[in-house]
Amino acid sequence: MANPIALSDSAPHFFKDICEFFDQAAQFTKHDAGLLNQIKACNSVYRFQFPVRRESGKIEVVDAWRVQHSHHKSPTKGGIRYSDMVNEDEVMALAALMSYKCAVVNVPFGGAKGGIKINTKDYTVGELENITRRYTVELIKKNFIGPGIDVPAPDYGTGEREMSWIADTYITMNPGQLDALGCVTGKPLSLDGIAGRKGATGRGVAIAIRECVSFAEDMKALGLTPGIKGKKIIVQGLGNVGYFSSKVLMEFGAIIVGVCEYDGALYNEDGLDPDEILEHRKNTGSILGFPGAKAEFKSSAEGLEQPCDILIPAALENQVTEANIQRIQAKIIAEGANGPTTPGAAAAFIKNGGLIIPDMYCNAGGVTVSYFEWLKNLSHIAFGRMDRRYTETANLNIVNMVEAVTGGSLTEAQRKIIVKGPSEAELVNSGLEDTMIRSYHEIREVFVSNPDIKSLRTSALVSSIDKIAVAYQNMGIWP
Ligand code: NAD
Repeated sequence: MANPIALSDSAPHFFKDICEFFDQAAQFTKHDAGLLNQIKACNSVYRFQFPVRRESGKIEVVDAWRVQHSHHKSPTKGGIRYSDMVNEDEVMALAALMSYKCAVVNVPFGGAKGGIKINTKDYTVGELENITRRYTVELIKKNFIGPGIDVPAPDYGTGEREMSWIADTYITMNPGQLDALGCVTGKPLSLDGIAGRKGATGRGVAIAIRECVSFAEDMKALGLTPGIKGKKIIVQGLGNVGYFSSKVLMEFGAIIVGVCEYDGALYNEDGLDPDEILEHRKNTGSILGFPGAKAEFKSSAEGLEQPCDILIPAALENQVTEANIQRIQAKIIAEGANGPTTPGAAAAFIKNGGLIIPDMYCNAGGVTVSYFEWLKNLSHIAFGRMDRRYTETANLNIVNMVEAVTGGSLTEAQRKIIVKGPSEAELVNSGLEDTMIRSYHEIREVFVSNPDIKSLRTSALVSSIDKIAVAYQNMGIWP
């Protein structure tokens, strides 16, 4: 077993939590303890500060980080978080999670993460742009960004806008570099982003849940019926991950009974509409007072404890803890956020008969589609561009031939469905769906084949440790 990472009691504990999960899983592998320690360690931690000139004229110092956890594959990959809560421990933990996540879904990247310690609400758009561009320049100066080095993406507090600023800064500083646009993913379509990236993490969460609840024997053990239709779901965080998970789950026939945001929570066992809630917040400044809710709570935490089948924490880490786990009524926790459940809470939930779909698998849809975007940037062509019309012509020939031979004829609508070639969005969603389904089967297989493994998190980690260990063993240690 690998050595535990020592941290003082008063230190932040997210990285220690991840290492604890790692150690639990490492017991089920046969790798050398030294190799396990190498996999667990954060390879490069870059902590820096830079000045920003506020519009008031004042100069402020900003704290920032970029952590590359594992170089067993290149480039490293991981989002950038803007939050006044961000700290080194958190960025290290999130970088480690990225390594395990990429391995779980067979995306050939090492893990990384970045953070800037700011509250975005305190800055103007112009100031945020300056901060983002300066952060990018600091990364360039230290060779911490590039399509073959380290590729950031959005995370909490960042989105397409920030990714555009990063891409533009990198391209400006690297004129003529052919693959420069692959330096960051999560870009808008107009800047060679990829269709489907924005909603990819949420869509992946929804597919993960649908796959999980499709196993009749697993659902029987939880006292649930199989199938996603009619499952009652509470979502915490109506941002990128929470919003898109809710929308796709509704398409699948699930019911969003609860929504928790930083300003409170809403509940209605007959269903809530995320679009209507966001519209209400736009008009009133808060989700509270939404007319479609039957009950509302002043605290987000209280919303998590309401009746449902599945809870999706999709806001921040440390939301489900030993303090509230006994009051959580859900049978399944699907971790849309990174690290929302502490190790103690996870153990108690599983002991009480619950099931956790772990973050490193559950929210891996984002990095999966980021991988597709990176491939698109390196190949300089949109998916489907070369073969869409060819496929349509070939399909049309088949339809015409079958009609001629059988004497039958399709309706115009039927013909359209059969003939149509795939769009980029359809290819991306299909690649994402395939990845999420295959990966679930992979980790469930490890889970059911070893009765000593008590959680899907442990089985996901066993699978990912094995893959990273093999990569290190094949590379060797040099010099
Ligand atoms: P986001 O900024 O788009 O949304 C976060 C939402 O959570 C916001 O609506 C915010 O108001 C809400 N929130 C903040 N504090 C809250 C609280 N105490 N209670 C309830 N709601 C609260 O961020 P995101 O990109 O959706 O990321 C959310 C989580 O998912 C993070 O843990 C992130 O690391 C993880 N994640 C994101 C992606 C991605 O592609 N965006 C990929 C993988 C994992």
